Amino acid sequence: MTKKPLTWCVQCNVLALFSPLDQAPEYHNEEGQWKVVERDDQAAFMHAHRRHHLEELYPIEGSFISSQDYAEPTKTSYFEVTNGRQRFVVKRVRKSILDAQRYELIPGKLRLKPSKPRIDCPALQRELAREFARHMSSAKIDRFVQNLAEAVSYLDPRKLKRAPFESHNPSLWYFILDQRILGRILRSSSQSFTEREVKLLQEFFRRNQEDPGFMAAATVEFQIEKGGDGEKTQVRPA
Ligand SMILES: [Zn+2]
Repeated sequence: MTKKPLTWCVQCNVLALFSPLDQAPEYHNEEGQWKVVERDDQAAFMHAHRRHHLEELYPIEGSFISSQDYAEPTKTSYFEVTNGRQRFVVKRVRKSILDAQRYELIPGKLRLKPSKPRIDCPALQRELAREFARHMSSAKIDRFVQNLAEAVSYLDPRKLKRAPFESHNPSLWYFILDQRILGRILRSSSQSFTEREVKLLQEFFRRNQEDPGFMAAATVEFQIEKGGDGEKTQVRPA
């Protein structure tokens, strides 16, 4: 997501995000002849809102959310911006791939509510069974995965380290199961692991910690808390 500020005409309550593409000429085919049409959306906006009160609104990092995939070109998404004094929610909509993005300003905050973290138990059981076939019984591995799933579900997703990549969907977050968390889960586990098994499992997760198959995931619901009046708009992932 861009870090460029949006330009807000406070008087008309109109938002625009300018990019170098706004100054690129358009090519129109008229009766078999290509014609170059110069355009400059930024200059047009500045002209339309001359002598109006304009402000720059900077996107707040980590606030971007949508229930639709990143690759979906016509998605509706939300993110927070600030002018340094107030926070706002921006709703970004593109109805068709032929349309430009449209921005709407909503005074208020975005509340992101991640679900309980979860792991993909069957996939993890298969992988660990393959890796540790010679070191641990499959029953022991299955119990470990069940204990891990249970322990992970009690973790606070807000305190977990987010994966260094984005998933395909902004409302699906991945978290790294780091050594501290795994060590705690392994040692508090009711089953008895030998020190060697603890080391093997920790080393395995360390090696694979950037693989989504060995991470915890959470689905994020989000809500817009409209400024001041306490009005709330619930937005659920599709
Ligand atoms: Zn204006």
